[in-house]
Amino acid sequence: MYRLILTRRLHTTNAVKVTQKVKLFDQLPGEGGKVKKGLEELLGPLRAANFQNPNPLKTVGYDHFDVAIVGGGIVGLATAREILKRYPDIKLTVLEKESDVAGQQTGHNSGVIHAGLYYEPGSEMAHTCVRGADLMYEYCEKNDLPVERCGKLVVACNKKEHEQVEKLYRQGTANGVKGLEIINSDKVTELEPNVKAYSALYSPNTGIVNYWLVSQCIADELRKSGRADIKTSFEAKKFEKTYDGQVRILGGEKIMDGPTLSVTAKHVITCAGLYSDRLATLTGGNGRKHKIVSFRGTYYQLKPEYRTLVKRNIYPVPSGGGIPVGVHFTPTVDVRRGHQTIVGPGACITFSREGYRFFDIKIKDVWDNVMNGAFWSFAIKNFTLSLGEVYRDLNKNAFLKSGQKYVPALTGDMVEPSFAGVMAQVFEKGGVAAGDFIVERNVMDGLILNVRNAPSPACTASFAIGEMITNCAEKDFNWKQQ
Ligand SMILES: Cc1cc2nc3c(=O)[nH]c(=O)nc-3n(C[C@H](O)[C@H](O)[C@H](O)COP(=O)(O)OP(=O)(O)OC[C@H]3O[C@@H](n4cnc5c(N)ncnc54)[C@H](O)[C@@H]3O)c2cc1C
Repeated sequence: MYRLILTRRLHTTNAVKVTQKVKLFDQLPGEGGKVKKGLEELLGPLRAANFQNPNPLKTVGYDHFDVAIVGGGIVGLATAREILKRYPDIKLTVLEKESDVAGQQTGHNSGVIHAGLYYEPGSEMAHTCVRGADLMYEYCEKNDLPVERCGKLVVACNKKEHEQVEKLYRQGTANGVKGLEIINSDKVTELEPNVKAYSALYSPNTGIVNYWLVSQCIADELRKSGRADIKTSFEAKKFEKTYDGQVRILGGEKIMDGPTLSVTAKHVITCAGLYSDRLATLTGGNGRKHKIVSFRGTYYQLKPEYRTLVKRNIYPVPSGGGIPVGVHFTPTVDVRRGHQTIVGPGACITFSREGYRFFDIKIKDVWDNVMNGAFWSFAIKNFTLSLGEVYRDLNKNAFLKSGQKYVPALTGDMVEPSFAGVMAQVFEKGGVAAGDFIVERNVMDGLILNVRNAPSPACTASFAIGEMITNCAEKDFNWKQQ
């Protein structure tokens, strides 16, 4: 049998008393059997490291482009790829303020390929998530990148939560998610012996991937095309219209007062994640609308000996509020996480847009939140939830308690600190988290398009978002395919 059964003694944490037989799978999906497909498995971390830009200073040697994309996260990169695919004559540049691509949200997340359960049927999110997931599996398989269709359980702990499971089932089915099944507690135990559930939604098409590596692979593909230049350490700081109707972007190294660099492009697309509102203001867009609020998600990870405590993604039912709150268990194929199973994240308000630690503070960022009425409406409506998230960010036992609700065997000595990610979220008037991707069009007399809101599942959906943005660009910039 696949399972090894260990008996653990009574263990007490501050949060709960746990008496539990811990059952560990002796392998995760994709392990054992025939050699696992995947870059890291084939050639090891060294091969993966080759995807890093070998020389960030090496550029194509010119500064005039048809298109400039600001932001080298997965959304910007996937958009660049789609444009090159459709238009063989276009030359483009991706401008990224960090010294490498995918250094912000794209490189610090759960790595889940979402199947498309959570999104309003008919929304762009629903459509791009379902299509994007298929494209993501296809891309990873074609490029030998590690990816696993390990599945997911959304766990209901009681009858009330079961109603949410039913709602997700209906929503997912309407969105075209295949293979969804509501299962009872016995079936849950059969699939995941350490999970305690009233019932669960089983989604076999949910998977795991390493989005940082996917981004490196796309960047590599762009460079190899000979038609794209990735300029790292280029923070776009000013946008101006030239006398001949193009856009000049002035920028330079982040924080530094070094030389001003300049790039000119016929059209510009900004995909700036945590700074999308600030970039919009710089381009002449409506910076007062769609203000970004940033939340830090902190993760723990199961120590190597416990990494197979669960075999699939194990999620709670969504707790409301619209932001992805809820500690979940996710096996990883990420060499930077030691291939461990991660547990997290929370969603704690940050005092800095790139606040990876609690005490990272930037006055400008705090002030932006203070002046954001929509955020205040959210915080007041979800006061207990918001405060609970701050407490959980600082208190390991509170964090563990969230996981123990449905994996009671989890104890403090099973986990070690892992990493944190910071997510960008827009709130609509009235304090509701924006439920769809937002694109601001026809900025600077129709020369610029700004991606204003691309929260989860933007990694899953990235290739489909690339298609969606290219469709918008085609119309706004009057591009004609040959
Ligand atoms: C904790 C966490 C867990 C998540 N889990 C998942 C998941 O499991 N599955 C999923 O699909 N999604 C997940 N997401 C969401 C996903 O990571 C993001 O939606 C996605 O990465 C957004 O991509 P992006 O390219 O828009 O943003 P980013 O990756 O943030 O990229 C934006 C880039 O723009 C650059 N930039 C900003 N300003 C400038 C400037 N002035 N000049 C030049 N460059 C600039 C930044 O440096 C950055 O590299 C998660 C997010 C977080 C934080």
